[in-house]
Amino acid sequence: MGDPLDQKDLIHLPFLKEAQQFLGDFASPLDTFLTTPLGERVVTRAYARVAMAVRKGRSDQGRTLSRATTDALGIRIEIASFVLARIIVSCVKDRSLIERLCRYEAQLAYEALVEGSEKTRDLVAERIGFVPIKGSVPVVMYIEAVAGLREDRWRLVNREVEGGLVALTKSEADELMRERIRVMLTQQLPLSVPDTVCRYLEPITTDLLAMVKASILEEFGEIEEGFFPPCIKAIIDALAVGTNITHPGRFALTAFCHTIGMATTGIIELFSRAPDFSYDRTIYQVEHITGRGGTEYSPPSCATMRTHGLCVKPDPLCTKVNFPIRYYSVKKKSHLPREGGETSQGSPST
Ligand code: SF4
Repeated sequence: MGDPLDQKDLIHLPFLKEAQQFLGDFASPLDTFLTTPLGERVVTRAYARVAMAVRKGRSDQGRTLSRATTDALGIRIEIASFVLARIIVSCVKDRSLIERLCRYEAQLAYEALVEGSEKTRDLVAERIGFVPIKGSVPVVMYIEAVAGLREDRWRLVNREVEGGLVALTKSEADELMRERIRVMLTQQLPLSVPDTVCRYLEPITTDLLAMVKASILEEFGEIEEGFFPPCIKAIIDALAVGTNITHPGRFALTAFCHTIGMATTGIIELFSRAPDFSYDRTIYQVEHITGRGGTEYSPPSCATMRTHGLCVKPDPLCTKVNFPIRYYSVKKKSHLPREGGETSQGSPST
């Protein structure tokens, strides 16, 4: 395992094997532990972790708390709360909640690494198998690391490649470490949790699921196909008349619909409009794109849509956005009723 990490660092890196070793049998057997006063503290912290993940880190209360925790008991409570947070989202069985937690945990680790010592950063890089040498990584490692990132700056054609190595700045390497942690965590979930534990946690899981649904509604509102951008409408129209949709087109439609909160069944319903619809093939593709394989793919940018010939009949709003998802969000907001019942169809500031 190489040099040991400082015990305090384990608070921010609870996913590492040595954090789990440090935890030992602190919380076992779990169903009994949860009912103890210490167990209740862990439940409270685990709930806070997941709730903050749902709010997309809008509160840094958790980090402040965990940074103040330096004694062995406090460190164990933090690590146990990470474990329990994973158990909670596994009981909920909502992919979007799992993805939010993994993204949040990866972000916490990233912030600790950026602020921490070089030595800690190098030790963690070793543990997660992402070790740039003199600021570069082999192309194969790079491609794997950016597989879930959609920003154009990560595309290999936009990178400096020499001798089979891709050059990275330090901050880019940090971002890729965060991504690596996110993917690792996502691939491990959901866990198989005994029914008795899920039942005990039910009041919490019900509350968190409602929180997720409310946050998607807050961000995108009810799904309204009428506000879909021309490119996405064109894909849906093409499906309906039986045109063969390319893989990038299927990907764009699925990732777009997943991001605005459409359930897998809703996405499959869209694909079912195609005359050659195959349930098994569609569910496989949809689950792969929406993260069941461990990587949650973001919807493509307008630039990527153009590259694949998917930018169809752009309208005036298109000149103001760089992402189809942004088009939808802006258009929806511009049609929100103002006080007095009118809609606010002014020019969006994008
Ligand atoms: S500009 Fe963007 S949102 Fe508009 S049609 Fe093209 S890809 Fe879609």
